[in-house]
Amino acid sequence: MLPKKIEEIKAKAISEIKKTASDRALFDVKVKYLGRKGKLTKILKGLKNLSEKERKSVGPLANQTRQEIEKAIANRKKEISGKIDWGKEKIDITLPGKKQELGHLSPITLVNREAEQIFSSMGFGIADGPEMETDFYNFDSLNIPKDHPARDVMDTFRVKTKNNDLLLRTHVSAIQVRYMEKHKPPFRVIMPGRVFRNEATDSSHGHTFYQLDGMMVGKDVSAANYYALIDEFLKKFFERDIKTRMRPSFFPFTEPSFEIDFECLLCSGKGCSVCKQSGWVEIIPGGMINQNVLVAAGYPRNKYQGCAWDIGISRLAMMKYKIDHIHLFHEGDLRFIKQF
Ligand SMILES: [Zn+2]
Repeated sequence: MLPKKIEEIKAKAISEIKKTASDRALFDVKVKYLGRKGKLTKILKGLKNLSEKERKSVGPLANQTRQEIEKAIANRKKEISGKIDWGKEKIDITLPGKKQELGHLSPITLVNREAEQIFSSMGFGIADGPEMETDFYNFDSLNIPKDHPARDVMDTFRVKTKNNDLLLRTHVSAIQVRYMEKHKPPFRVIMPGRVFRNEATDSSHGHTFYQLDGMMVGKDVSAANYYALIDEFLKKFFERDIKTRMRPSFFPFTEPSFEIDFECLLCSGKGCSVCKQSGWVEIIPGGMINQNVLVAAGYPRNKYQGCAWDIGISRLAMMKYKIDHIHLFHEGDLRFIKQF
């Protein structure tokens, strides 16, 4: 019964293969008989349900048939490819072409570019640095000594090396001294980049995020420059007269230190999960660069002064596009990305 059926399948397959005139038609025949749900495949799959005696007679026949059909397909393929006369092939040039879907830039990239443009228009250059850093550039040079509590605040991903001296930078401020070592004031420069912290995550904190630091160093730079620059930046970035406030704060790399907040745009100051119900977004810490940092860069103490700040680009993107969860930036969900 079954052997007869296999012979029938083989005869039909071979005759259909002979009639094909294109690769496409040949492929269809192949799927019909040898595909995942193909006629012969079904029989091969059913072998395990047969008695041992039946399997011994049907098994080899089915396998041999599959090989014969495959061979017939391969031979026909050779015949067809030699047969196509392109001069006689009719191509319908009026058929519409395949539409290529355009990609989208991530909101982080959009915000980064816009921030870079605004600062460029204010005379800033752009500096870059490695994502894998040394303790010196990430901590020591920024006046964060070994026992400083700030090192605990920034839970660090360390890289396993012989001396255990490499880490994933916890802030782009790590670029500051690298840049200063190679440049003499006066200068103004921004430092955009990705940073990493091994910390508990919530709707506004992730382990990977984007920052854009800036610094302006010269002989008479003051804290008023810092506030004016950031205020101007925020107004240009959000294209509106945005409420800001400056508060005294503390950071080891600046003295005096400040924090510039702006009114939460997600809730218009009413309070939401992103602004932790305060109505304000703490977004731009900074201040006057601590003289210890300038000295670490090799400048004489008290010869120059400068201001520096750190803009949370991820947070800024959340505000600009009213996104209430930071993890959406990294999940690669196309439904999210396509909205920008
Ligand atoms: Zn809010």
